[in-house]
Amino acid sequence: MQDLAAALGKRKQQRLYRTRRTLEGRQSVRVRMDGREFLSFCSNDYLGLASHPEVIAALREGAERFGVGSGAAHLISGHSYAHQALEEELADFVGRPRALLFSTGYMANLGVVAALCGRTDSVLEDRLNHASLLDAARLSGARLMRYAHGDMGALARKLAKAPGQALIASDAVFSMDGDRAPLGEMQALARRHAAWLLVDDAHGFGVLGEQGRGWCCEQLGAGADNLVLMATLGKALGTFGAFVAGSEALIETLIQQARTFIYTTASPPALAWATRTALSLVRRGDALRAALNDHIDYFRRCAAELELPLMPSSTAIQPLWVGEAGRALALSEALRRRNLLVTAIRPPTVARGAARLRLTLSAAHRRDQLDCLLQALADSLRECGDDD
Ligand SMILES: *Cc1c(COP(=O)(O)O)cnc(C)c1O
Repeated sequence: MQDLAAALGKRKQQRLYRTRRTLEGRQSVRVRMDGREFLSFCSNDYLGLASHPEVIAALREGAERFGVGSGAAHLISGHSYAHQALEEELADFVGRPRALLFSTGYMANLGVVAALCGRTDSVLEDRLNHASLLDAARLSGARLMRYAHGDMGALARKLAKAPGQALIASDAVFSMDGDRAPLGEMQALARRHAAWLLVDDAHGFGVLGEQGRGWCCEQLGAGADNLVLMATLGKALGTFGAFVAGSEALIETLIQQARTFIYTTASPPALAWATRTALSLVRRGDALRAALNDHIDYFRRCAAELELPLMPSSTAIQPLWVGEAGRALALSEALRRRNLLVTAIRPPTVARGAARLRLTLSAAHRRDQLDCLLQALADSLRECGDDD
């Protein structure tokens, strides 16, 4: 116990201590906390679907029709018509033969990698991949080979030396940087080395590409049999969960072997029912995506005029470079005093000295709210001093 307390104390001293905030109402661009209203720029609800009336109505209807709990794992008696229908719609949407639901994106990544790779194999990962992909490689027991961010030369060199069956895994849109992976080049390398390519499109699905099919579909189309697409439903779709899409044989293999699919209770069918509605809103969501893209352009243009240190990203994830963890925290607090909610991203989520504010934009924001953010950022940066 003393060790724990000492470690916690050290974390606080280093300004790396993390705490939760309790929202008192809906997830939206305006949230209530501590009896106050804040303008939020830190959710992944990029299209504002988390509190969309049609999605809420579908969840309610789903609960009436299917109950709340699924009662069992998918392979026992937990797989409902709602799950089945959603899987078919997702597969159709991304143009792959099959799709399989997982309870979360984290579990999907763990399940896929451990089902496809074992001790004698190798998993190649971008250094900036999401924690779940790194943990997935570790869980599989395969050799983890990490390459410098976006460096296809480094990936090619590592692939040439990779033992056993190789699997390349990458975020499609990097979660803390907002930039995109060169999936075309990755797929060419994967094909040349008969490797799997696992693409995690958590931040592209719903917002990028035609009809919001994501960065993976945009870059690779329907994809070859070595392509494994994973996307989450808790971000742009505004609900919860994740799915993996791929070939018939891949999905059947996951049903037999992905332990995070097999040994867990199926997510509530009502949620799948709500997600069907969210998916249909995404499919006809061109206006939402256009609004989001307008916001991104406007925000970047104004930020450049104000000389804000934005990182190079053209997605809804717009990180503002800070560097030192303590300063990132101070900036986040300065924004909070101005009724703005923006999270400081600190190590170990990002490398030491690479702390930042991770700003996320949503189609649900309004232009004047962006103006408010821009002004507050400029003021807070001034208040917290220049970076050193
Ligand atoms: C959020 C996220 C996940 C995890 O998905 P959950 O459904 O929240 O568990 C996986 N990969 C990336 C890149 C993510 O951003």
